[in-house]
Amino acid sequence: MTTHPTPLQGSYFDGRDGQRHAVDVDLAHGRLRVRGDRIERDEPLDALTITPRLARTLRTIAFPDGARLQLPDAACLAIWFPHRNRLEALVDRLERYYQAVALAIVVCLGALVAGYLWGIPWLADRIATHLPAGVEVALGDQVLALLDRTDLDDTALEPERQAELGERFAALAAGLPDGADYRVVFRGAPSIGPNAFALPGGSIVVTDELVELFADDRQLDAVLAHELGHQVGRHALRQALRGSFIAIAAAFFAGDVSSASAVVVAVPTVLLQNRYSRQFEDEADRFAYAHLAGHALSPSWLGAALRQLDADLPDDASLAWMSSHPATAARIAAAKAAGADFVAQHPQYAGDEPDLVLAEEETGGGPCCACCDDAGCEADRENGDADSGACTGCSGDAAAGDDGDDACERGAAADAVDAGADCEADPDACAEPTDAEAGADGTPR
Ligand SMILES: [Zn+2]
Repeated sequence: MTTHPTPLQGSYFDGRDGQRHAVDVDLAHGRLRVRGDRIERDEPLDALTITPRLARTLRTIAFPDGARLQLPDAACLAIWFPHRNRLEALVDRLERYYQAVALAIVVCLGALVAGYLWGIPWLADRIATHLPAGVEVALGDQVLALLDRTDLDDTALEPERQAELGERFAALAAGLPDGADYRVVFRGAPSIGPNAFALPGGSIVVTDELVELFADDRQLDAVLAHELGHQVGRHALRQALRGSFIAIAAAFFAGDVSSASAVVVAVPTVLLQNRYSRQFEDEADRFAYAHLAGHALSPSWLGAALRQLDADLPDDASLAWMSSHPATAARIAAAKAAGADFVAQHPQYAGDEPDLVLAEEETGGGPCCACCDDAGCEADRENGDADSGACTGCSGDAAAGDDGDDACERGAAADAVDAGADCEADPDACAEPTDAEAGADGTPR
């Protein structure tokens, strides 16, 4: 190697303070020479490392004692510091091709998206399944304490009623791998309404409003079976971890471990705003079908529960136990299909099917009262044109002198107080199970 004809100009930092020194740099007898105001160094090239070439960025040469030398890239640097391995040479060559750079960007973005879609859920699930049981229980307790401070009140259910429902739940949970750890807790929740949710650690919260909504305890059994599905699958923890994973990872790398409490905050959001993924809801529904069948209960009861919730909740209920209407309709249909399978296999339980299913079968499957689920009827009501005939399922009510609009409302709300009169005019229209108790108490909720 020979001396460079004209020295390169660069900046030298001695590694002890941040002061920059302008220097001239060249090569003599295999040693890098650095000369500047009160700077004079000669270092063998072997003792130095240089940052890779990247577009037009400055190259940095590191000295063994921590000093740094920054230089604009120059052809001679490639000669002074030949690539130490093939990979470095290949990367350097690829960086000169725009196509290769563009491809690298696409691959990087693809890796980021894949990591977000599959990597984070995978990692969150691994964490959820390996979290010690005690941590999960503590997390669930914290979430319940948080909800008790914000959205939940003490239950107003009589102790005997709580005990009765607790026994039904215990029978339902018995035999599950962690069945002994599962418990049901009741809370009043005027601001949330009918709802149930599975907390990490085994507790399932049921609101008084949900208990009071159902005419038949088997509807509550079905909801609890669904929540047991969430519990068995650790869905609350997995969903919360997935949602807050990036925040937790950022906190971890920034050294702020206290921010891991983001999970505690994330769980109520997941539970109350029904942010479970469709995959988790499907899993919990399928679990409920099998579990109910294993307890001699038809999966149709889940359909009946969903139907009642759907009828009771206002259209804009964002805190519903269920997600959107079309999804609910599909879930009801799936529950009824599972119920039909159950009855086919166990005909002795045919008489225990929910009224909803039996009434619809008798009328040839046309859910008259469900005409309000019909887009045509919905449109009529919005237009104030209730008697246009579009809502043919309610024609009996119209013929009997009822306002078609009211009939639809009754069908949708399954309001027991009004449904009595409606039934006389059109028995077929009363497909929904009526609720004598709720009728006595007034509107259930
Ligand atoms: Zn669910």
